[in-house]
Amino acid sequence: MRTIVTGGAGFMPSHICDLLLSKGHEVICVDNLVTGNMNNIAHCMDDKDNFTFIDHDISKPLFLDEDIDYIFHMASPASPVDYMELPIQTLKVGALGTYNMLGLAKAKGARILLASTSEVYGDPLVNPQSEDYWGHVNTIGPRGVYDEAKRYAEAITMAYHRYHGVDTRIVRIFNTYGPRMRGHDGRVVPNFVNQALKGEDITVYGDGSQTRSFCYVSDEIEGIYRLMMSDHCEPVNIGNPDEKSILEFAETVIDITGSDSNIIYCDLPQDDPKVRRPDITKAKKILGWEPKVDLRDGLEKTVEYFRSVNRPG
Ligand code: NAD
Ligand code: UDP
Repeated sequence: MRTIVTGGAGFMPSHICDLLLSKGHEVICVDNLVTGNMNNIAHCMDDKDNFTFIDHDISKPLFLDEDIDYIFHMASPASPVDYMELPIQTLKVGALGTYNMLGLAKAKGARILLASTSEVYGDPLVNPQSEDYWGHVNTIGPRGVYDEAKRYAEAITMAYHRYHGVDTRIVRIFNTYGPRMRGHDGRVVPNFVNQALKGEDITVYGDGSQTRSFCYVSDEIEGIYRLMMSDHCEPVNIGNPDEKSILEFAETVIDITGSDSNIIYCDLPQDDPKVRRPDITKAKKILGWEPKVDLRDGLEKTVEYFRSVNRPG
């Protein structure tokens, strides 16, 4: 099995590279390193027979001589801070990058999985969100560049499936965390953990009553892999339904790190979703999947990772 992972040097996709190598795939990682880091795949690079890295912006076409069996199309800035700093690149990778990867899948007869997101539900008016909810997105707001890129990506993926018969999968990923997140990507998990470890103020945006549901990376990638290997072509939510307010989350981080940081309150970013929780009934039914790692265990592993990367020398 020869498998492409776009964005493979990023946080979650690098864990997918590891999982695929462990299952005997030959992996081709394609990344332009806009938010990724070669350190995430340094250990894979040692496996010269089974792992290849291609430095390429997938918003431009990619031509390969090799046969390809699977494409995990994971490339996109994912942190709100990143995608608001890179609005055009985010729209391009969601639109042109997805178009190019679908074209490659069609040419090679490969199965392709699109990494979509809970952000297609926007600032949702229903909670939890199930796959049949159409969402509530401000198309012209600052988050629209990401949300609409992913909504377009879902639409063109279904069009290639229906019109060209390409074998497609769509995963809607909910907030995922764990080792290899960038310390400064601006997302709540690296922000709070690093602030706590350094004894800095914990920056809760708004009053902290907004909710998120955090999934540990090993659970997330297992669900994504099972979806790829299933025969289900409609979108499937993969996430952890354990919903917490951001204030509760800040208190948990302080508790786990034993930090004496204080909580401070900052402005809530525009269009920040007020609630988010996946309905995973479908994933349970068709994939036999549900998350296993609880928040405290996952956070302990994540704290240990950030302690090790922050350690001098
Ligand atoms: P990440 O930023 O760590 O990884 C994304 C990778 O894509 C990076 O290595 C980056 O360099 C690469 N990339 C971006 N644009 C590219 C381009 N034009 N060409 C080639 N490579 C490009 O982010 P992540 O959190 O690991 O997210 C991975 C995927 O999962 C993204 O598609 C994201 O939208 C999706 N997702 C993530 C979450 C989450 O909570 N982590 C939630 C929902 C969806
Ligand atoms: N957040 C926060 N403090 C921070 C970073 C984020 O309170 O330092 C909040 C943010 O406003 C949002 C939630 O945490 O309500 C999750 O933010 P993140 O950027 O991780 O991802 P999102 O789920 O919004 O895509």
